[in-house]
Amino acid sequence: MPKPERPLAPARDHLGWWLIIHCRCGYRVDLPIRLLVERHGANTDLHLIGTRLRCQRCSQRPMTVNMTDRPDRTGQGYGGGTPATIKPLPGVVEEAG
Ligand SMILES: [Zn+2]
Repeated sequence: MPKPERPLAPARDHLGWWLIIHCRCGYRVDLPIRLLVERHGANTDLHLIGTRLRCQRCSQRPMTVNMTDRPDRTGQGYGGGTPATIKPLPGVVEEAG
């Protein structure tokens, strides 16, 4: 299967976003991309960061990694606020094996 061309997703383009990381062991953590920029640099590709993530509890690769612009997921049809955007971080989990 040929590798699909993937657009780069530099972290600096998603400074206000968070990564929602789920692990098979049940651990879940939200990581602000702003923090990842401080650690890895603003030009670091989000896909690259995603492939390097490990669970803080069991050290496995995460089961799913999603991105959101609202870590508390508020505004989802509630009170007329703007719904939270949640989308998967592609190219991370699918290629783990
Ligand atoms: Zn885990």
